[in-house]
Amino acid sequence: MLIQNMNWFQIEHQSQQDDRAILPLGSTEQHAWLSVCTDHILASRLAKEVGEQLSLPVFPGLPFGMAPYFTAFPGTINLQPATYNALLSDVLDSLYQSGFRRLFLINGHGGNSPVQPQIHNWLNRHPDARVQLHNWWAAPETMGQVRQYSTNASHASWMENFPWTRLAGVSLPDEEKAVLHIARLAQLPASEVKKYIGDGNYGGAYQRSDEEMLHIWDIAKRETVALLENGWV
Ligand SMILES: [Zn+2]
Repeated sequence: MLIQNMNWFQIEHQSQQDDRAILPLGSTEQHAWLSVCTDHILASRLAKEVGEQLSLPVFPGLPFGMAPYFTAFPGTINLQPATYNALLSDVLDSLYQSGFRRLFLINGHGGNSPVQPQIHNWLNRHPDARVQLHNWWAAPETMGQVRQYSTNASHASWMENFPWTRLAGVSLPDEEKAVLHIARLAQLPASEVKKYIGDGNYGGAYQRSDEEMLHIWDIAKRETVALLENGWV
């Protein structure tokens, strides 16, 4: 249930019946030929679908994240870690204040993962709450299926190319890009990163069949639902 379709009375009632809430975490950043909002679109869509399946409230996704290495690409929005940590902490405070105690974050962007220590800091201040930070694409079953199709799969490659992240009228290169050296990338400022990675794909073909992508999506949904139901401690 998207909370954009709920009023505060209904949210109050919901939090008294079930203390779980879902928050998608995205990013707005270059994704080669795919939408710059790819991480936001995927996290929000997954949240909406599992939230509807389990009748759990889904808050609007955070569209911006930490992407300092992509700032030379037009359209990329980069939040400083201090900004992002403060933003997430305030949102978690507000979810707690609303009565929710089990907070499920569906993260669509690897660059947001450094927020985990901040989540621990927040939990230390709210010891009766629980937070799961679920990096949906990297979860074992989902990534396992990706690797079965191809081990050459990374940022902005086929593994993020779903019918809802590709752009109408944009044709994709018909090739498999060689995997990039991530350790080299980590040494570079954004201007050099842009020169090194070219179109922005980190490695892999640009597209696979919709049948395969929908299969991956189904696995991601199942894996996410299982954590929402049984992943709490
Ligand atoms: Zn992405």
